[in-house]
Amino acid sequence: MGLFGGLFKKESCGVCGAEVGALKRKKIADGAICKGCAAKCSPWFDDFKGATTASIQEQIEYRERNKNELRSFELGRSYGDFGAVLISADGKRFCALGKSSEGFFSSPRQIASIDEVIDMNPDIIPVSDVESVDVDIRETRDEHKRTENGRQVSYSPRRYTYKYTFVVDIRTKHPYAKNIRVQLNNGTVNINHEGERMPWVFDSTRNLADMLSEVPGFEKQKEVLAGDSLGAKVVRGLTSMATADSYTMYGFNVTPSNRASVEKYGRYVDMANEIRAALEPTEA
Ligand SMILES: [Zn+2]
Repeated sequence: MGLFGGLFKKESCGVCGAEVGALKRKKIADGAICKGCAAKCSPWFDDFKGATTASIQEQIEYRERNKNELRSFELGRSYGDFGAVLISADGKRFCALGKSSEGFFSSPRQIASIDEVIDMNPDIIPVSDVESVDVDIRETRDEHKRTENGRQVSYSPRRYTYKYTFVVDIRTKHPYAKNIRVQLNNGTVNINHEGERMPWVFDSTRNLADMLSEVPGFEKQKEVLAGDSLGAKVVRGLTSMATADSYTMYGFNVTPSNRASVEKYGRYVDMANEIRAALEPTEA
């Protein structure tokens, strides 16, 4: 049998028995399954090559039980405008979706009720299964230029639009949802900015309380604030808010014209922090 014979040869799905051509089946360790059966697996499951007919069957049975359990999943907190992280009211379980909407015409949005996503059957994962939570803030930027004597030249200081995407990366011990990546923002957060953004590290916020506690007494604050440590920069950013027309937040120079977008950036930073606080394993 030649190449084409192999390509068009039908094989039956090990799980449901449907006859499927090469383009409509997924290879597993001991045969193949149809796309329909593959779709019944967890959206976070990617190890089809390491799966067997028996393990897929087992997973599909688990997925049916999961869907029933979702009906009694009491939603506590909901995060994300594109993907979603849904935390149970008791804080002990969570669900995650790569995209909170299905279909071409529905747009992703924040999930208000578990009923909205029951058809997508997100896995209910015990928080105790979480191994790590990482936040990935991806940055790109475009420079704006002006035309001078027919040439494109930079403004001085340079003007940019910084663009951000916020992704939460959750690793778990769950058998079918080991690597979860959820994008929180729907559309990039675009910040118009004069000059370079100053260094700012996401991790600094989790230790904000520690950094603030390092600040010596009030009389010494001026010296401290003049310093160049990350703590001093953060404190400067916070304390100058009330007094100055322009100030620094998250390393951005905030002006009336970009304030709303920097606040939006901050909203996703807070969101990511809350997800991390809710899910991250605590060292015992
Ligand atoms: Zn099948």
